[in-house]
Amino acid sequence: MLESDEIQRQLESLKKAYAATLVERVEEIISALKELHEQDDPHECLQEIFRQIHSLSGSAGTFGFNSLGEQARQLELSLNEYLQQEKLPDSKAIAYFNSGLQKLLNLVTQGPDNDELDEPRPKQLTDKETGRLFYIYEDDEEHGRNLCLHLSHYGFEARTFHTTEAIRSAIKQQRPDALILDIMTPEGPLAGTELAASVRQDDDTPIPVIFTSGINTWESRLAAVRAGGTAYIIKPVDIALLVESLDRITLRIKAEPYRVLIVDDATELAQHYSLVLRQRGMHTEILTEPTEILTRMEDVKPELILLDFYLPGITGLEIARVIRQHHNYFSTPIVFLSTETNLNIQLNALQQGDEFLEKPISDAQLISAVESRIERARALNQLMYHDSLTGLLNQLTLKRRLETELARCQRQNSPLSYLMLDIDLFKQVNDQYGHVVGDQVLKSLARLLKERLRRTDHIGRYGGEEFGIIMPDTEPQIALDIIEHIRKHFAELSFQKKGQSFNCSFSAGIACSREFKQEKSIIEAADSALYESKDKGRNQTTLHQKCLP
Ligand code: GH3
Ligand code: MG
Ligand code: MG
Repeated sequence: MLESDEIQRQLESLKKAYAATLVERVEEIISALKELHEQDDPHECLQEIFRQIHSLSGSAGTFGFNSLGEQARQLELSLNEYLQQEKLPDSKAIAYFNSGLQKLLNLVTQGPDNDELDEPRPKQLTDKETGRLFYIYEDDEEHGRNLCLHLSHYGFEARTFHTTEAIRSAIKQQRPDALILDIMTPEGPLAGTELAASVRQDDDTPIPVIFTSGINTWESRLAAVRAGGTAYIIKPVDIALLVESLDRITLRIKAEPYRVLIVDDATELAQHYSLVLRQRGMHTEILTEPTEILTRMEDVKPELILLDFYLPGITGLEIARVIRQHHNYFSTPIVFLSTETNLNIQLNALQQGDEFLEKPISDAQLISAVESRIERARALNQLMYHDSLTGLLNQLTLKRRLETELARCQRQNSPLSYLMLDIDLFKQVNDQYGHVVGDQVLKSLARLLKERLRRTDHIGRYGGEEFGIIMPDTEPQIALDIIEHIRKHFAELSFQKKGQSFNCSFSAGIACSREFKQEKSIIEAADSALYESKDKGRNQTTLHQKCLP
């Protein structure tokens, strides 16, 4: 991702480059209009003139030339009447258009007149990876080391200190993202809360603190709150609970950037929209050739499409219809962009799209339309496509994704690995520790998978204690290494129930799309490899024999 300053620089140079083309563009229109009646096909020529003016009226405002955009808009509307009636302007009308164009030329030389653009840019969403480092204050060295080890399995780095002096000097050297402090130690019955209070005082953005304690008294809890604690965890520390608190503090599992596909034949405009959205931390792709849209959508998987309404030879409405015919994109939000002000045309477009933005579009308007649409679509998708306990994909959605990914990988001649996981002897966990604890185990495995796998992998829960994972562009041997790594970590996580602690494991099976090309056959192959793992004694991974190197 580009740095904000770099994006800002690109936005400015884009604006300059746009301004630099204006004189030439307007002069070209003027001379084309002058020679209109001498052309072989004057109707075609008028179309082209219209297209040029239309492009100016849609883009000038975005680059700060407000009055120029408005003037171009007037000319566009009058010209449109000639086009509608398939009439050519007579010499009087040409003189009228010509004076309008001269006015455009004057406006170009006057330069940009839109103050709004000089307002501070929208705040960039921070891309900084937070939540790496935690300091633990714990007098029991063994216990402290144990906590560090467990947190490392969840991708956190923790360091343990057993005196207040040691932790204070460490904080001075490198500030951690949160503190995990034991309250009562040999240094005093409230050593932890006193430490927190003194470290946090006079700090504008104090370090978040989680307290751990063997005592569950009102006084101790109150002292923790007064010292600024955000959580109070009774010992022995339930790691799952601690991780949940740390996740909340550091938002470590960051929301994925929004993905937007921009379809506009006006390159500078598309680039401008793209930079504005990237400045907000979004991922964008530009498409100027609409015939490629379906293939590009498979790669980009946009959560929203910004669609120019008039493109050469095709309308945005037609493109939207093609997109909607594809079952995967039935609900992808589409936002039309156009200088079109005719309400009937807009309403008609909204049968396929979700919103109609009139050009010129301000940056704030663009951001707000895109963000609110994607936010809502994500909330809806979460309900429709995800499992409510773990937040992973549900079974049906995983199958659909497998279908799409298999097709894509086959087209690109790239291997796809499919994995099935099943928690070992899970029934015993439920029987011995109860369903609530069982659910905690399921959530922890889901979290571990989300944390350790790539963004491009698809993780689903089959219901029960079975999970499916799609790893696109991955050789089965690599998939094996990845899942073995996770399997070992998972087996080391310990879970607690009323002071008792226990471990769980899972078994896995892998199949590859080279040998199993169909969705059904690759699932069956992974499943049979999984059952081989179970037969061989569980807590292991098996590669289907046909996929062995
Ligand atoms: P194996 O190693 O052979 O897979 O043994 P197992 O006990 O894991 O397999 P089995 O299929 O016999 O048991 C699965 C158990 O998973 C049964 C059910 O109680 C439990 N389970 C299924 N869904 C959930 C859930 O959503 N929450 C909880 N807590 N338990 C669940
Ligand atoms: Mg099981
Ligand atoms: Mg099972």
